[in-house]
Amino acid sequence: MNIHEYQAKELLAKFGVSIPKGIAAMTVAEAVEAAKQLPGPLYVVKSQIHAGGRGKGKFKELGPDAKGGVRLAKSLEEVESHAKEMLGNTLVTIQTGEAGKQVNRLYVTDGVDIGSEYYLSMVVDRATGRIALIVSTEGGMDIEEVAHSTPEKITTIVIDPAQGFMPHHGRAVAFALKLKGDLNKQAQVMAKQLYDAFVALDCAMLEINPLAETGDGQLQVLDTKMSFDSNALYRHPEVMALRDETEEDPAEIEASKYDLAYIKLDGNIGCMVNGAGLAMATMDIIKLNGEFPANFLDVGGGATKEKVTAAFKIILKDPAVKGILVNIFGGIMKCDIIADGIVAAAKEVNLSVPLVVRLEGTNVEKGKEILEGSGLPIVSAADLGDAAQKIVAEVRKIA
Ligand code: ADP
Ligand code: MG
Repeated sequence: MNIHEYQAKELLAKFGVSIPKGIAAMTVAEAVEAAKQLPGPLYVVKSQIHAGGRGKGKFKELGPDAKGGVRLAKSLEEVESHAKEMLGNTLVTIQTGEAGKQVNRLYVTDGVDIGSEYYLSMVVDRATGRIALIVSTEGGMDIEEVAHSTPEKITTIVIDPAQGFMPHHGRAVAFALKLKGDLNKQAQVMAKQLYDAFVALDCAMLEINPLAETGDGQLQVLDTKMSFDSNALYRHPEVMALRDETEEDPAEIEASKYDLAYIKLDGNIGCMVNGAGLAMATMDIIKLNGEFPANFLDVGGGATKEKVTAAFKIILKDPAVKGILVNIFGGIMKCDIIADGIVAAAKEVNLSVPLVVRLEGTNVEKGKEILEGSGLPIVSAADLGDAAQKIVAEVRKIA
């Protein structure tokens, strides 16, 4: 799960991290009110969307010459005019895709006199099972570009979570950023604070870009992105409360209500599978047969009738879906119960596209009998390869 910049900053501030003062706003009036609470005379009005690259982004409605999604303002009037231009409009950045994202929230913050900009991030590194702390002197720009053209300017420091953050990790961060004197000390302190926040909040990723050195010699976090391990969210109701559903795909929100793992993809064959590994294999074999999956969908081990029905509805809402492939392995679940669920769900949703079902496992014969006796135009498949060929043939018939 991702959160907004202002929310991440509020969380980090609790760990002592140095952050310029700022206030979130949902309306133009609130934005002006927020600016009045700040010392001024320089303010920054920042679009809050779950995507980076806002500064260089463009508003769809405003034309190519308008300013981006992060703007400096030198007066309350300027704060007001920026807020008016941003709220309700669609910001397109390198991370949003062409469709862009509607700006519904703003963050009005102190304008900082920037000396240098640095980069710092932390991610869970699955390969080493440790936390990778990544720093670079090249902050404020696209880090992917830095990694591509000047990889020597990026330093990775690996921290073993069992050992925790040691003073030498802090020194390594300050050294990599080439900081001297008091700034060097500040970097060591901040790196520890950020690590503590990362671990305590069960983050999956924390990125500070830029980490700024101000004109008066302070290290401050000017921008931050934070995402969380969804499996650990139950431990953090305060983080869960920060979820902004307007930033998420409606079908994925619906799926999460039924505990279905659903991810929309670009193809035309809807997939309903139990188990993530089987779902991946199903997607692969569809591709092997020359078509593309419309989604990844794992109904999980306990695929009840309710879950199967919800899954059908979600798949069918996608207008790109021209056929559905159900691939279920009845291990703990029995095939006859699953078949009952499929038949009931297919009747309830008024199935409008071809449906191929491959069942295997406990009570498979009984399951197949139920499908055949249902009177529904369900195509039964013998195995995974057969299922893929049949659904591909079905959708090509329509095309
Ligand atoms: P994004 O990464 O989405 O473009 P940032 O918050 O990093 O958004 O803002 C883009 C740029 O705007 C930063 O690299 C920085 O130069 C400038 N900036 C951001 N916040 C401030 C601030 N509080 N004061 C001065 N400049 C800022
Ligand atoms: Mg940034």
